[in-house]
Amino acid sequence: MNIILFGPPGAGKGTQAEKLVSERSMVQLSTGDMLRAEIAANSELGLQAKKIMDAGELVSDEIMIKMIEHRMSGDEANLGVILDGFPRTVKQAEALDEMLKHNNVAIDQVIEISVDEDALFDRIAHRASQSDKARDDDNAEVLTQRLKVYHDNTAPVLPFYRNKGILSQVDGMMSIEEVAEKISEVLDS
Ligand code: AMP
Repeated sequence: MNIILFGPPGAGKGTQAEKLVSERSMVQLSTGDMLRAEIAANSELGLQAKKIMDAGELVSDEIMIKMIEHRMSGDEANLGVILDGFPRTVKQAEALDEMLKHNNVAIDQVIEISVDEDALFDRIAHRASQSDKARDDDNAEVLTQRLKVYHDNTAPVLPFYRNKGILSQVDGMMSIEEVAEKISEVLDS
């Protein structure tokens, strides 16, 4: 089974993806984590991406599509993947579709984790205060921009999956455990 966890920054996509990885044998593909690994490795791509990420903007579709294409063609993708942070634009969603068709696989479920935006600022401030999870883009100013980008570029991806009949919504304002339970219900239905 291949799924997409969808939602604005701070919705809990990463947290829920990690839970699914430990509970089911699935592989998490987080494009944000991949980019942060490039930054940590001081690669040319990492240097370019850091500026964009710190400004709360999106890294180019071309780079992101190549990055995910590379990972989707690996053996780990056969286990079933949880896409976390991809696709973030309609162009990425269309490219993903082509990629999957080529590999004779499909996305089975897209789960939108919906949250109250005011709560996101508190969540991100909390994440920023935890030294082991602190990220350079976790501050109110960058979050405001990331949310704008989410509304302008990422939310328009939702109708693409709604039209395919594979979109479900889960209330992300519940506890981590409750959200996980709802996600499991969707996956087992
Ligand atoms: P995330 O960890 O998913 O919140 O991603 C952190 C940042 O990485 C985003 O704000 C973007 O700048 C960049 N990024 C991650 N995934 C993508 C993507 N699919 N397309 C474009 N930019 C991305």
